[in-house]
Amino acid sequence: MDWPGVIEYYREFLPVSSRTPIITLKEGNTPLIPSRYLGNLLGKRFQVYFKYEGLNPTGSFKDRGMTMAVSKACEEKAEAIICASTGNTSASAACYAARAGIKCFVLVPRGYIALGKLSQALVHGAKVLEIEGNFDVCLEMVREITQKYPITLVNSLNPYRIEGQKTASFEICDTLGEAPDFQIMPVGNAGNITAYWKGYKEYYANRKIKSLPRMVGFQAEGAAPIVKKKIIAHPRTIATAIRIGNPASWKKAEQARDESGGVIDMVSDRQIIYAYKLLAQHEGIFVEPASAASVAGLLKLVKMGYFKTRKLNKPITKIVCILTGQGLKDPALVMKAISKPKRISANFRKIVNELGY
Ligand SMILES: *Cc1c(COP(=O)(O)O)cnc(C)c1O
Repeated sequence: MDWPGVIEYYREFLPVSSRTPIITLKEGNTPLIPSRYLGNLLGKRFQVYFKYEGLNPTGSFKDRGMTMAVSKACEEKAEAIICASTGNTSASAACYAARAGIKCFVLVPRGYIALGKLSQALVHGAKVLEIEGNFDVCLEMVREITQKYPITLVNSLNPYRIEGQKTASFEICDTLGEAPDFQIMPVGNAGNITAYWKGYKEYYANRKIKSLPRMVGFQAEGAAPIVKKKIIAHPRTIATAIRIGNPASWKKAEQARDESGGVIDMVSDRQIIYAYKLLAQHEGIFVEPASAASVAGLLKLVKMGYFKTRKLNKPITKIVCILTGQGLKDPALVMKAISKPKRISANFRKIVNELGY
């Protein structure tokens, strides 16, 4: 089958009509990969899956929301879109704006955008402004700009973003034939956890699934406003995609957590890097650091005995970790956090020695 993109495939669940021009790059339909390594840590009664969102057109889940937001912007005859971004939103917005033939403006915090993401925004022709301030400052600016000028905001405050992103939970349920028991994901601005929970609830209401998952979110320790119950003025973490101190969908994330009986907790940068390496070296999946927060979180929960106290009356408990973005976006981190290649002269004996033979 030729996959038509998330809007066409899940049209009945989305606010589009025959008048909506569908701006798509055939995003979605990302693989749900069974874990080969992590699952063993939990025992036979558990199956861990990875929803690998890094395989979307611009390398993150943001494309699911952007196809909707840009399609609706075009329906409303918008000339331009704008976003504040920690990187991936701008990459996606710039890409879909190019596809639609409209203008894109981007405000990013100076110095905290992975080079891959910044390159994407630039190559797709967005006007990119580096702001002396963090993401939260950028978001305040674009909110004010869109109140005063005819430019469409495409941050996840735009409800169409959430609509598009909820299709990921539909895909998970369609693949598993049911909802997972637990879903673990990174939380930054908290739009995505909001979107997933909305999707699961809609599938449940439409009798596509018989149960709902517990929603489990992880923030980075230095950027954990929801866990610490206070705004973080200067968020810090190597996971730049979740380096957010005042999430726009804060309340909705808490709602998703509480309605589902889940939890929002935090992991340190050290735990994130550990999970980042583990995913790459034992599962064969290269993600960006923010995405590794979900696996770091899973490891933390296993250690805490979280799953033991929540044993289910089922032969197999299914856990889905959302891997939100592609590792190639931030290759500099590998050189910093893992190692550089070893230099050696072009000498056969020396090379073979180095290989351990
Ligand atoms: C945007 C993003 C997040 C955070 O999602 P929110 O909706 O802001 O909570 C996590 N990981 C990656 C790779 C992202 O691009």
